[in-house]
Amino acid sequence: MKTVSENIKNIKMIVKSMRNAVEGIEIVAISKTFGADLVFEALKCGITDIGESKIQEALPKFEALGDSLKGIKKHFIGHLQSNKAKKAVENFDLIQSLDSLGLAKEINRHSYNIGKKQNCLIEVKVSKEISKTGIAQQDIDGFYKECLNFPNILISGLMLIPPANEDIEAARPYFKEGFNVFNSLKSSFKNENFKVLSMGMSADFKIALEEGSNMIRIGSAIFGDRQYANQ
Ligand SMILES: *Cc1c(COP(=O)(O)O)cnc(C)c1O
Repeated sequence: MKTVSENIKNIKMIVKSMRNAVEGIEIVAISKTFGADLVFEALKCGITDIGESKIQEALPKFEALGDSLKGIKKHFIGHLQSNKAKKAVENFDLIQSLDSLGLAKEINRHSYNIGKKQNCLIEVKVSKEISKTGIAQQDIDGFYKECLNFPNILISGLMLIPPANEDIEAARPYFKEGFNVFNSLKSSFKNENFKVLSMGMSADFKIALEEGSNMIRIGSAIFGDRQYANQ
């Protein structure tokens, strides 16, 4: 088994080799289900961004990591329930999964209360799957416009999760579509803060980068296979 350090080196090498496609690609190490010790190792290897998908799992881990998280950007990537918005606002630099107006209202309210402007990505749904979370592609302009009315939210881009498929090439059309939606919002609203396109995970990040992603969310390719406690 490869070590976290070797894995990170390898991913950085791949990203670097593709730099001609996109400038300034951010790697977010997704540490859900992995312990603070492994996160600490990743930070030692120069990882500057970490992502978690559950508040109740993230907070004790952040506490265990203490000062080693100084200057590290924390991303929330899971589905966020409105009643957990307060904790998310208090503990995360970027909420990648903004997917409803109700959630935006709660994020805005709690951010206002602590004098923060919360960075968020809108989760866009380009698939027709009913089960998928995210704002449907055809509603994204309207949703973005509504978000501009929340003074304590800063929308800095989009996040996309393609439908699960064993064939990684199946994700490509979704990434293409995500890139189109991203560019169309950029040119309609001309907002300089709108610049992040978060797409691509361990299996498909190369394809996502080829299709214009500038932020990849990598879990298992850095930390190894995930073991879920209830499986
Ligand atoms: C778990 C997760 C990832 C990382 O998945 P890997 O396949 O382990 O890289 C990325 N994004 C989201 C939204 C996730 O939930």
